[in-house]
Amino acid sequence: MIERFVDPKKIDLSIDCIEVDESYIGEKVSGKNLKAFELVEGKENVKDGVEIIGKLEDVLGIIIEISGIDDLTASALESLIPEIMNRIKGLRYDFRKENVVITISEELFEKITLDCIGKLLYKAFNSLKIGKVHVKLIADRNRFYKELAKAYKIHKNREMFRVSEEEIEDFYGCISCQVNLPNHVCIITPERPSPCGTTWREAKAANKLGIVEYYFKVEKGRKINGEFEGVNKKVSEISDGKVNRVKLHSALSYPPLTGLYSELIVFYIPEKDGFGIVDRSYKKKTPIGLTFDEIEKLIVGKQVEGFVGISYAYLKSPKFLIDDKGWNKVLWVTPNVYSYIRNFNKAIIKNIEIGFENSK
Ligand code: SF4
Repeated sequence: MIERFVDPKKIDLSIDCIEVDESYIGEKVSGKNLKAFELVEGKENVKDGVEIIGKLEDVLGIIIEISGIDDLTASALESLIPEIMNRIKGLRYDFRKENVVITISEELFEKITLDCIGKLLYKAFNSLKIGKVHVKLIADRNRFYKELAKAYKIHKNREMFRVSEEEIEDFYGCISCQVNLPNHVCIITPERPSPCGTTWREAKAANKLGIVEYYFKVEKGRKINGEFEGVNKKVSEISDGKVNRVKLHSALSYPPLTGLYSELIVFYIPEKDGFGIVDRSYKKKTPIGLTFDEIEKLIVGKQVEGFVGISYAYLKSPKFLIDDKGWNKVLWVTPNVYSYIRNFNKAIIKNIEIGFENSK
């Protein structure tokens, strides 16, 4: 892994085909929504430059190949893509990895070109002076879905839980969502990736490289009854005393705060004394009578007992909701969650009810 320091302020974003500035981060944009994904990969033979596949309509795959970097550095550098894209005036870039949604204002959609986006990303990554850079932008639908499936596999391989919380001293915090949720913080551990899917390894590498400014180290401190002293201290400090206790592996008591980009939400079903897990694409009502969007509105940026935002990667954690009896308490999942968990744990799915197949 490269040890050099990457100062985000020194990244070259000067381009004249669109307006790019830090002040546009968090800008409210409505207009055309594009389904998108992001991937940075280390490759041996990289052809320097920009490659465009298809015409900009409703999908966009962003693949950046860089020579001379390992997988950990590649995953850390991925945080730069939203950082850069969100500086474009009239464009909003939400969620991560295969769940990215890009919103482009109608005014910008009229004039923006893939060539222009490609040049911006190429210039930014090239200014890191790490190695050769190849930016591939995929707008062709067939190719998009093929490459998205490949990106998904690469990201899943990067999610391996190699260390436990007990083996390390530091967790990481992320305050990226503070642009819209003041006082919000996510705590990321090797056994609890963030609700948007950022792993501890990615946060650690990004922090070490200084790639973005929203990740920071959290000294975990002593563990007492499922709570870490260092985590409580940090969350209390950042939330201005609004949240003083966090149990990282509980949805019922002192759950972690839920950021803007949760892939999944765990909710408690009181009459059955168990949990349901709903994914963002499920549009029907859950057993508690609320949709994903309705639950998200209630809990985003807050600590609400009985609810917690999580990522798909957390479903594989040995500490999954361990303070609430873990999988033994899960009674209902959506079809997408079911097809994810049946691949790695056949034993847990026996007693789980599945939501309607067609959620539209
Ligand atoms: S959900 Fe949490 S980890 Fe993800 S961007 Fe927001 S603050 Fe960071």
